Amino acid sequence: MARLDGKVVLVTGASRGIGLAASLALAGSGATVVGLGRSVGGAQDLQAGLAAAGRPHLLLPCDVADWESVSAAVDQARDRFGGIDALVNNAGVVDPIGRLGDTDPARWQANIAINLCGAYFVVRAALPALLARRGVVVNVSSGAAHRAVEGWSAYCAGKAGLAMLTRSLALEYGAEGLRAYGFQPGVVDTEMQVQIRASGINEVSRLRREDLARPEDPARAIVWLCGEEAGDLAGQELTIRDPDFRRRAGLAA
Ligand code: NAP
Repeated sequence: MARLDGKVVLVTGASRGIGLAASLALAGSGATVVGLGRSVGGAQDLQAGLAAAGRPHLLLPCDVADWESVSAAVDQARDRFGGIDALVNNAGVVDPIGRLGDTDPARWQANIAINLCGAYFVVRAALPALLARRGVVVNVSSGAAHRAVEGWSAYCAGKAGLAMLTRSLALEYGAEGLRAYGFQPGVVDTEMQVQIRASGINEVSRLRREDLARPEDPARAIVWLCGEEAGDLAGQELTIRDPDFRRRAGLAA
């Protein structure tokens, strides 16, 4: 696995699922992890795993949909560790699930506030620090950014917007050394998939739990993206399903 000794990496949605696995993998690679999320204070697996890794770390309760909360957390992280090398924009929700005409407008808006505006807020707050270190942004994307999936209009729209945010970052700041990636983690066994299975609304909801990937797989890829070796892929939307990507990131074929 790539080594990130001493690099300061912010991970949003660190409390469970892919964000939890990524936080632990990053700490295992030597990074200083700053975990953000509304419930990181009660995330015992996260706290125990980071403590066991023996690296400096910081957990900051933060709602990514709230600019004041994000900007305070990012300032605290930067001040504590003297800078920020990478940001993993992982926080996300799939709710509301349902055909567009059945969705609640407030919940639809909340989805975009988290999945798209939230990602923008964290990049916006961390950008000066990231630029100072020619840093990395990994936006955790989805196949739903590129194709409509029945019952997921908010999720698809938000992830499509996030994919464009990745391209905008690459266009505006790539020349200053910022590397931005969109990363599709595959279908992963997390709380989000529990909610999706319960809906029964589309083909993804009918996948069997035993056929889903484990969060450690995308976590390993995220560590690789935070390192130097992925630099030639900056600005792109990458998928864990791509055999060439898997080989380069050190994942099993
Ligand atoms: P998950 O287990 O439900 O975890 C979601 C994480 O997002 C939690 O840590 C949650 O923490 C955080 N979060 C949600 N709203 C937040 C807010 N307002 N502020 C801060 N943090 C917030 O889901 P997951 O599957 O690991 O998903 C992680 C990312 O992968 C998401 O962006 C998702 O869209 C993407 N993804 C997942 C799959 C999959 O198959 N699982 C596939 C494609 C893409 P708190 O509740 O503590 O705030």
